[in-house]
Amino acid sequence: MNFTINPAAKKTSKEMLFLWVEQQIQNHCAEKKITKKELINLGIGDTSHVLPLFIKNAIVDATNEMTQSPIGYGDETGRLFLKDAIANQKAYQSFQPEEIFVTEGIANSLSHLIGLFGKGAKIGVLRPCYPVYISLLKHTELEIVFIDADKDHSFSPPKERLDGIILCSPNNPTSLAFSKQCLKKWIDWACNSNCIILFDAAYNSFILDNCYPNSIYEIPGAKKVAIEMKSFSKSHGFSGLRLGYFLFPKEISYQNISLLPFCKNLIASKTNGVSFPIQKAGVAALSKEGLAFSEKCCKLYLNRTQILKKHLEKNGHTVIGGQCAPYLFLKTETDAKHTFEKLLFEKNIITIPGQGFGAKNFLRISGFISENTLKRSLKHFFI
Ligand code: PLP
Repeated sequence: MNFTINPAAKKTSKEMLFLWVEQQIQNHCAEKKITKKELINLGIGDTSHVLPLFIKNAIVDATNEMTQSPIGYGDETGRLFLKDAIANQKAYQSFQPEEIFVTEGIANSLSHLIGLFGKGAKIGVLRPCYPVYISLLKHTELEIVFIDADKDHSFSPPKERLDGIILCSPNNPTSLAFSKQCLKKWIDWACNSNCIILFDAAYNSFILDNCYPNSIYEIPGAKKVAIEMKSFSKSHGFSGLRLGYFLFPKEISYQNISLLPFCKNLIASKTNGVSFPIQKAGVAALSKEGLAFSEKCCKLYLNRTQILKKHLEKNGHTVIGGQCAPYLFLKTETDAKHTFEKLLFEKNIITIPGQGFGAKNFLRISGFISENTLKRSLKHFFI
């Protein structure tokens, strides 16, 4: 057999920093003879609530349906019942089913969508950012162009021409959101320079007032250049179920040809779609009950984040974020790794050093926490 391993597969998908963090946690637990569960985990941005019964029932009912009549492959881009529920939301009422693509989440959407760009295309990434953007792009033959945040953690469109750009609002790790005016600047820039915006709206359900746009399509012109990616992971705690979708407006074109059919080809050649019961769970998540549940969870996480923020500020820390997403970005005096170690070794607290996102003088603190973790944090989080 003559087999050579793709060099991209030899690269670790996780940034070295995350492997280092995991190793430090393991060492600490071994030394103290404790388990990771006993630590105060403010590291990961993941659900801390159980699956609600109405979602479980939707999955069970769908599975029962499969015992009554055979339900096999469906449309690779998603089943019509879920696409209808998606298009029923206020922000997406002007979208046709063929412009909606159901996926296993944003990481999955993005890995499909970057396949649209040809070898050597330039893709912009704003820093600090969700590290998966970089790990995904590193496995392609695309060129990554980093755009670093200004002193006030904001971003402006670059002078350089790009083929694509990933924007995230509210952002992970800073939890800052783009205002309407700011997004308009990005859209005008993208329209003028023929650039496609891949808009990550994983945290949009945390925007509970009207101060910031809930969808990029609220901004005139967005349909010509922007693909919005959505997820049920953060809004409904679906990170273990895996469900998301993206909107691909037919107006997105290159040399006056709509790119929509190319996107459909790409998806159909890469996947046979998302499982029937999970798509049914998506319909339940978008029902009146599902949206009320999501709002309740988002409020709860934001509230806990705000309590934690006040506590940290009272203790003299400079902290940004926490308003539009449940993350805090705490400024550290020295390299954030040192603060991370101090908190872990002395207080049993897990955080994430900003290096993981491209900002070495910050710690990311997650507010996706239970009431108990919040109480323990308030008692122990002093540095
Ligand atoms: N986008 C951002 C900005 C995230 O922070 C995360 C997860 O932390 C994701 C996407 C992943 O979303 P999904 O679970 O839908 O793949």
